Order: sequence, then structure tokens, then C-alpha cells
Amino acid sequence: MKIVRFEYKKKAEWGILEENMIRFLNGPPFSKIVLSQRAILLSKVRLLIPSQPSKIILVGLNYRDHAAELNMPIPSEPIIFLKPPTAALSHKGKIVYPPGVKRLDYEAELAFVIKKKAKNIPQKDVSKYILGYTCLNDVTARDLQKKDVQWTRAKSFDSFCPVGPWIETDLNPDNLKITCCLNRALKQRSSTSNFIFSVPYLVSFISKVMTLCPGDIISTGTPPGVGPMQKGDRVAVEIEGIGCLENIVD
Ligand code: MG
Repeated sequence: MKIVRFEYKKKAEWGILEENMIRFLNGPPFSKIVLSQRAILLSKVRLLIPSQPSKIILVGLNYRDHAAELNMPIPSEPIIFLKPPTAALSHKGKIVYPPGVKRLDYEAELAFVIKKKAKNIPQKDVSKYILGYTCLNDVTARDLQKKDVQWTRAKSFDSFCPVGPWIETDLNPDNLKITCCLNRALKQRSSTSNFIFSVPYLVSFISKVMTLCPGDIISTGTPPGVGPMQKGDRVAVEIEGIGCLENIVD
């Protein structure tokens, strides 16, 4: 099932995407999914960020092939960091190239959305706390990341977190093909089978640090091949079983 959030008559609505039709939901999808009788063509609406997170948590190095590419040792525990919710950007939204930034990179990532409040969750229970999976682009001002040492400024500009286009609920995250294309040229290609830390491990680990709330987004790190974008570039993150998140750099 594909859960979408979209704008209709200037209001944010939730729905289920079936082929090219969206069936409206009677409320947010977190506790219960209640379909209404209303439906609309996908082409008639603008998709919104598929969640309204209280926080967006991302993982640093989490692909074995990316660690090998960077000549870095496999980390013994996940490196986590945050982006503010104000960085989130919808499918087809414009990534703003900030003045003064010298290198702006794409990072294709598999992300997921938390379904219910989670604290100290054992790995075996994690699936109950995940609503579904989506695509995310961890846009990074690489020059500022190196200059500042800590990553907040480099990762947090408005529009630095494209996410979407929707949430796929029926998906096993263990072996999904993930790619990033820049102006249709393939730049990143890997599989989530290269994860250093699995989705259950990450949720359990993060939930021991902070309470996860419905709608929170967790992103699982990027594979090899990260590189720069220029104004006017079209960047597409595609993940098997989910779809393609497309944005333009402005
Ligand atoms: Mg990243």
C-alpha cells in the first residue's frame, strides 16, 4: 500500500495511491487507516512531504561498499545526526543552492516513517513501530561539513531533505536496489544488502537515545558515488519497491 500526503483545496490530506487514483483517508494513517468514499486523480494534486516529523534522524556511514570507497573502517556503532523538520522538501520541490556554499552533494538514502511512539524498543519488536518506507536525499553542503567539523549547518538548510514521493507499507528493507541519477546519468547504485546496521538495529539503537514519535523519519545512510550538484540539475533517488523521488536544484 502506498500512503500519500497531498494538497487538495488548499488543505493537506492523506490518501492511498492505487494506480493513478488517490483514495482519501479520513485522517492520518498512524493509528488506523480509514478510507473515505472520495477519490481523485494523482495528476490533479500536488504531493506533500509524506509525514510531518518532530525530528529527522539520519545515519552516517552505513554501507559496507561506501566505507570501502572512503577507505574507512566499519564503525562499531551507528553515527547518528539530525536534520530539522524545516529542511524537509516534497517530491518535485526545489532544492535551494545556498549563497556562499561551494559544494552541494546528493546522497540517495532509504528512509522510513515511525508509526507509533517508541522508546527502548528491542530489535524483535521493531516492525510494529514502522509505518513504511520512502526515498530521501540527504543534501549536504560538503565544504561546510568539512569546515565546521560537526554537521548541523551543512545538513540543515531549508530544502536539504527531499523525501517521498510516498510511503510504501509492504516492503522488506533487507535487499533493495537503490540508485541516484543526476540529469539521467547514473551516479550511485547499490543494494541495502550492504547495510552495516539493519533497520531493526537502527530503530532499537536510536530509541534507546530518544523517544521516537509518530511521523518521525529515520534515514539509513548513503551508498558509494556521492558527488556534487549544480543549479538546474535534476536529481532522482530511486528505490526498488517504492518509486522515484525527483527534485531540481535551484
Ligand atoms: Mg547521508
